[in-house]
Order: sequence, then structure tokens, then C-alpha cells
Amino acid sequence: MEVHDVVKNITWLGHDGFLIKGDGKAIVIDPFQVKECEPADIILVTHEHYDHCSPEDIKKIRKESTVIVTEADSAKKLSGDVRAVQPGDKLTVSGIPIEAVPAYNKNKNFHPEQNGWLGFIVTVDGVRIYHAGDTDLIPEMDSFKTDIALLPVSGTYVMTAEEAVEAAKMIKPKIAIPMHYDAIVGSADDARRFCDAVAGTCETVLLSS
Ligand code: ZN
Ligand code: ZN
Repeated sequence: MEVHDVVKNITWLGHDGFLIKGDGKAIVIDPFQVKECEPADIILVTHEHYDHCSPEDIKKIRKESTVIVTEADSAKKLSGDVRAVQPGDKLTVSGIPIEAVPAYNKNKNFHPEQNGWLGFIVTVDGVRIYHAGDTDLIPEMDSFKTDIALLPVSGTYVMTAEEAVEAAKMIKPKIAIPMHYDAIVGSADDARRFCDAVAGTCETVLLSS
């Protein structure tokens, strides 16, 4: 499918949470304070912080057959079919290719590199979608190939809007979508600043939750 058609199948659940529908599957990443969401076939959890790994939200959207892919610390807090992976791992779940990629801080210490916490690149309907997790701009981004990039813009624990622009320049997606604002840290203004400043690099889509 064309990247603009796939973007229409991405729903922002707020903060870092997204529902992605494609290839007949519902994939949910980092569900947190979810108001409404259909049951997920696959749930991806980037790291164990409570606003990303929320057992109570996962309970609301999981079904018997749901597969959860996450890192070791979150895996300890979750039950059922949980697959613990490390940055660099690639796997296919229910026909959906998933790559676990590194996510960590460079200029602060909330997400140490050695924790092995994650971002994900999933391929649905032939389009690659990168969810950055909680990260700063990291050199590995240079090697990420993606059509759509979901990038944090709030600052404090993750990249600021301005740093996210630099990350987008490195990753070169066709479409970037700001996230990680409007819940705990960050505001709609961060998202708008990101969209304005990244305009020469890629298209942007501002989702509402
Ligand atoms: Zn975090
Ligand atoms: Zn976070």
C-alpha cells in the first residue's frame, strides 16, 4: 500500500500509544490511559516505565491469542504470551515483521543504553513504521530504514522538538508523526514546533487522540 493510505490506519491513543491496523491485524504500541481501542493481536511495549508498560491498559485490550513483544524488564511485569527481545532482534509475529531497535538517552540518564530498552520498526501493508520509544537522537538512527517515523518531542525524558527535527533529518522518513506530549510532559506547542521545523525534510501528520 501507499504510505499515505497506511498513515490513515494509524490511530493515536495518547502519549506514546498507537493502534496500527494493517495486513488484517491490530497492533498496539505502548498503550497508556487508553479510553477506547479494539482488541490487539500484537502489543509492543518499548520499556518498563509506567507510562509505556501499563499492565492495566494491556489487560483492557488483550485477547486470548495476543502476543506481547517487549524487553526483559517489562516482560517481568506482564503475563501471557510475552516474547522478550533485545535491540537488534528481528522476529515475525502473526505474519507481521518486527525489528527491535535501540532507544536510550545521550544527554540525560532516564533511559540508560545498557538497559536494552527499545524502539520498534514494524512492517504493515508493505510500509515500514518506526516507533522510537523513549530516546534521544542516537547514532543508530542513521541505519534505520522507515517510511513513517513516530518521534517523541516533549523534551525532559526524551528528545526536544528541535532534537527530534535533527533525528528526522538523519532517519529521512517520508512522513513523521510527533508523539510523547499532552499527557505527562510536552504540549501541543512542542508538536507544532516540530512539524514547522521539519517541513523541509519530510511530510508531517499531526494526530489527535
Ligand atoms: Zn521512559
Ligand atoms: Zn516516556
